Amino acid sequence: MLNSELAIGIDIGGTKVLGGVVDQSGNILRTFREDTPKSGGHQLNQSIAEVILELLTTHKVEHVGISAAGLVSSDRATMLGTPNIKDWDGVNIASALFELCGIKTVVENDANCAAWAERVYGAGKGLENVIMVTVGTGIGGAAIVNGQPLRGANGTGAEFGHMRVVPNGELCGCGISGCFERYASGSALMRRAREAIASNPTGAKEILARGNGTIEGLIGSHITDAARDGDQIAIGALATIGDWLGAGIATLSMLFDPSIVVIGGGVVGAGELLLEPARKAMMREMPFVGKHPVPEIVAAKLGNGAGLVGAADLARN
Ligand SMILES: [Zn+2]
Repeated sequence: MLNSELAIGIDIGGTKVLGGVVDQSGNILRTFREDTPKSGGHQLNQSIAEVILELLTTHKVEHVGISAAGLVSSDRATMLGTPNIKDWDGVNIASALFELCGIKTVVENDANCAAWAERVYGAGKGLENVIMVTVGTGIGGAAIVNGQPLRGANGTGAEFGHMRVVPNGELCGCGISGCFERYASGSALMRRAREAIASNPTGAKEILARGNGTIEGLIGSHITDAARDGDQIAIGALATIGDWLGAGIATLSMLFDPSIVVIGGGVVGAGELLLEPARKAMMREMPFVGKHPVPEIVAAKLGNGAGLVGAADLARN
């Protein structure tokens, strides 16, 4: 018998295809994973189908949602463009999976999935207007508007990372220059930290030691860890990123009027060292400040499971 209260969510990551059975309270009852095939395309579809079929052996569910990084068509079926997966652009994933495992699926942008999970079970629980900004390698964006995820006419809505914030600024991977994610992402944090270290190598000895003594050896978690331990270079780099983030959020507030802005992604592990500069910058850059309520800026609550849980819940809604 089909269980309509349960749904399967699949999170397609760079290294793993993680599937889970999710109940109506957002609990993950069972997971199953496979490695993400480097060849992408058909191989990846097959891995997803295998994960679905394995989960179906124990839980007979009707609804399956797929969370994927990239632009997804507004009918929730086709990958229009994906930054990290080979041979997936233009592929109708839903029909490929129907052929492979005989079950209907819906495909959703990963940021939409995470935002939906935060809105139903996490930091934005019960709220009708929620924005999520995911600060990772790039910037992922999603907007829940009047209780519904904003997909737009073609599925490219709420891609905040590619909002232009600096005319003729740094060149972005999307093909234009001056995008928000060139200034407020985890990659931007690394660039700012490396610049600060290069200009003050003596003061940077401690932070350099975290990455085998070289600038190249440093990764994002070294910066957030160093900041939490009081390292001034790391704190400064996070404050710079937080400032860009908050300034961008001020603009987004005037577009979407959310009651809350949820910040996700690895960099939010720095907590208030990122969020406090963001709040200050939002107030500094907010149009008509003092004349209207402004959104709260908070950290995401659900962590890595959010994509899977959100995809499952969107599939049954
Ligand atoms: Zn861009």
